[in-house]
Amino acid sequence: MRKIENVMYQMNASRGVDPDNIYFVQVDPTKCEACGECEKHCGTGAIQAINEEGIRQVVNPAACMNCGQCLINCPYDAIYEGVSFVDEIFEKLKNPDTVVVSMPAPAVRYGLGECFGYPTGAYVGGKMHAALRKLGFDFIWDNEWTADVTIMEEGTELIQRVKKPSKDKPLPQFTSCCPAWIKFAETFYPDLLPHISTCKSPIAMLGPLSKTYGAHETNIPAQKIYTVSIMPCIAKKYEGMRPEMADSGFQDIDATITTRELGYMIKEAGINFKSLPDQEPDPALGMSTGAATIFSNSGGVMEAALRLAYEVLSGKKLENPDIKVVRTHEGIGTAGIKVPNFGTVKVAVASGLSNAAKLCDEVRAGKSPHHFIEIMACRGGCVNGGGQPLDPDVRTASLFRSIVARVNRKYRMRKVA
Ligand code: SF4
Ligand code: SF4
Repeated sequence: MRKIENVMYQMNASRGVDPDNIYFVQVDPTKCEACGECEKHCGTGAIQAINEEGIRQVVNPAACMNCGQCLINCPYDAIYEGVSFVDEIFEKLKNPDTVVVSMPAPAVRYGLGECFGYPTGAYVGGKMHAALRKLGFDFIWDNEWTADVTIMEEGTELIQRVKKPSKDKPLPQFTSCCPAWIKFAETFYPDLLPHISTCKSPIAMLGPLSKTYGAHETNIPAQKIYTVSIMPCIAKKYEGMRPEMADSGFQDIDATITTRELGYMIKEAGINFKSLPDQEPDPALGMSTGAATIFSNSGGVMEAALRLAYEVLSGKKLENPDIKVVRTHEGIGTAGIKVPNFGTVKVAVASGLSNAAKLCDEVRAGKSPHHFIEIMACRGGCVNGGGQPLDPDVRTASLFRSIVARVNRKYRMRKVA
């Protein structure tokens, strides 16, 4: 069993297994202190006490959305990822017959620095690109490129729905880029699926584009290309393994690692991260705009799509492209954006699956006033994803809370006795 930044991995990823049957998140019962902190952060009840001592476990993979919020909030490092592609990627990087493509998500460049002593949220995109080249990746085809593509697709779809909603494409439109949210909707709100944008997530677009457009641009046969998605997210491992993600004629995404695992790989390879010069991604699938970067924050996808919708619906240039009113860190945020020649576009942004459920119930009851709803499973969005480095400050606060809770519980029990 390998130990990566205090998170253990049980096995290498198996192929041909239905990802719905895989435990992407598991609890080590020898480390679980029965504090229940994980249960508080789980929006589905998938993690529960399995005995009288209160030891927790993910009891059913079908009920687990793989968001990893339990893992990053466990004060005792008792929760770990069940699937890792790290060994396989190291092997592929050594193989001269394989062209290994890295596809880093926007939030990774704001999280990776923590593994190397930078403050939380420090931007290290240039060093990340340099480290990927040092590790031996043949290309960096950046996921920010397809975040921009998503905006064009999802924003255009929103405009069509706002102008002419239909039974197949009703309002409100939900975002589609968070795989934990998509599994949540498929599991608990299947009747709302027509509301979800038909666009794939940015990485689910970049995988097939790498093996089609990227293969064409570089003259490399698609069967030689091995695509590695680098994500702040455990649910993206699930998404990459979904069998329908094969539009290129191959499995579009061959492997997915988290920010934590990329940090581990860089350290394992002996690379001095801090001394690296800043570098750019490769041009074929590497260019991006500022709209792509804000995807990592809760409200960012919404804001980027609204910028496009505003200009198309009003025919006017948006003077101030910052629509920060829709960015939210906790709970549910709502806003009305006045669009000249159209009226008010009503939007809502939710992070956390229990908040998502509230908005879904409203839509199901036919009472939603919104045109567009963004859902992210992780509180604050992907910057706080389940695959990000484990912030020692957060963990300290979490540990403190759990100790206080346990002391209070013991005190209450004594008083009752
Ligand atoms: Fe719950 Fe998410 Fe943990 Fe699964 S990964 S048990 S859904 S918090
Ligand atoms: Fe993954 Fe982001 Fe969704 Fe969290 S919010 S599960 S990090 S896509």
